[in-house]
Amino acid sequence: PSTFEYTWDTPVYKGKTSFSTGLFIGGKFVDGSNGTTIDVINPATGKVITKIAEGTPKDVDIAVAAAHKAFDTVWGLKCPGGERGRLLNKLADLMEEHFDEYAALEALDNGKTFTWAKNADLGLSIGTIRYYAGWADKVHGSTIETGEDKLNYTRHEPIGVVGQIIPWNFPLMMLAWKIGPALATGNAIVLKPSEFTPLTALLTAKLIQEAGFPPGVVNIVNGYGNTVGQAISEHMAIEKVAFTGSTLVGRKIMEASAKSNLKKVTLELGGKSPSIVFDDADLDVAVNWAAHGIYFNHGQTCCAGSRIFVHEKIYDVFLQRFTDYSKSLKVGDPFATETFQGPQVSEIQFNRVMSYIESGKQEGATLHLGGHRIGTEGYYISPTIFTDTKPDMRIVREEIFGPVGVVIKFKDDDDIIHQANDTVYGLAAAVFTTNVNRAIKTAHALHAGTVWVNCYNTIYANVPFGGYKQSGIGRELGEYALDNYTAVKAIQINVT
Ligand code: NAD
Repeated sequence: PSTFEYTWDTPVYKGKTSFSTGLFIGGKFVDGSNGTTIDVINPATGKVITKIAEGTPKDVDIAVAAAHKAFDTVWGLKCPGGERGRLLNKLADLMEEHFDEYAALEALDNGKTFTWAKNADLGLSIGTIRYYAGWADKVHGSTIETGEDKLNYTRHEPIGVVGQIIPWNFPLMMLAWKIGPALATGNAIVLKPSEFTPLTALLTAKLIQEAGFPPGVVNIVNGYGNTVGQAISEHMAIEKVAFTGSTLVGRKIMEASAKSNLKKVTLELGGKSPSIVFDDADLDVAVNWAAHGIYFNHGQTCCAGSRIFVHEKIYDVFLQRFTDYSKSLKVGDPFATETFQGPQVSEIQFNRVMSYIESGKQEGATLHLGGHRIGTEGYYISPTIFTDTKPDMRIVREEIFGPVGVVIKFKDDDDIIHQANDTVYGLAAAVFTTNVNRAIKTAHALHAGTVWVNCYNTIYANVPFGGYKQSGIGRELGEYALDNYTAVKAIQINVT
């Protein structure tokens, strides 16, 4: 396979990178079995950065075989937890050595700003690997008392070979959330990055090799969803699949599992999360965090606070300040010092977001701010606010995955709980109030996997994350994620 070499000389970063563009199977970089490649596009320019090897279902078979071999001989129950933890810590050390290089790759490949990649994605990715390194020798069962004549105990065993399919919005972080708990608990992995953002996964493959993980423990097969992704989700020798991405594809993953070997499925899907601003909110706090909620990562977060509900008493003043704040956000080159928002990840996503903006206008909402492309090159969209919406409009109901928020007026506490919960999703929600009773009451009444109070998008490796309703199945992060990757075995011994 070829090597990708790249040099940056930008106001925020000067440096270089170099790694193989092959598939990472059995500890080696190899070409795909068809010899074909996928173009990797820079969303800031629309131009090709490099080509990477394209995997096929046959390559998935080879990767699964390599993973099984590793699991049966040197990994899984054959490798003590302490050693798995040491390797994960070693990987985290190596990732830290490449900290800025990773951030620059994310900016180049995904379009997020170098500064945000550094301050958000990198710390949480490496932190997640370290957090699960700590768990590796602390995963254990229990003894259960049933009387003097029996000894009952449980073992939390690794599941075996697991498939992991990740999206393009947080390429490295999603990889870390997936491989951290899976490796800590002793599973072997076949992972597919998004075809739009494969670069940081390839650098990680190089570091996995360098850290000394036995060959086959982690296999990274780049490729398209309907080939490599589908092959993973219907594979008869993969016992569990973890997926992050759209609800549409999440359904396909479950269906493939049902039609193949009933592999265990965890899903982290979309959202249409509410930010609720009560009339007693601190307005600075509410404006800053609600803006972060919708605009962070260019609106390309599954937990984006895309429905902003504001109490009628403060609606006008909130809207004015929110609008001013939105106007102040600098959109542009991901490698410029002042940039808050870079381009959308791809032309497809750019068109998708623009078509939602069009639908908002056509359905009669007021385009209060933005709604247009910025520049002629790259996939930049201005921060956009709609008002005067109706509950059945597509921009109110569907996940846009762009910097497009709707600001909606509400009257009272009962009305807002009803409106906020009126969605098929349930990933996250935020409440802005200075009244602690109201904060707690509202947080408990919302149907969402995470409720932020007077903040947004704060994520910690040790706090669970995941969705109610059609936002997903299972929880990632924290101790909860370990359950996704272990099978509990009860041993009953007759001691009489
Ligand atoms: P997607 O769901 O199509 O892709 C996510 C991953 O699934 C990618 O690796 C993709 O290659 C793979 N995939 C696609 N089809 C597959 C199939 N049939 N079987 C197995 N794997 C398959 O998401 P996308 O195209 O990257 O984005 C589309 C929409 O998904 C976005 O606009 C957004 O609404 C949503 N999304 C959500 C998240 C999230 O974090 N919840 C992340 C990215 C995208």
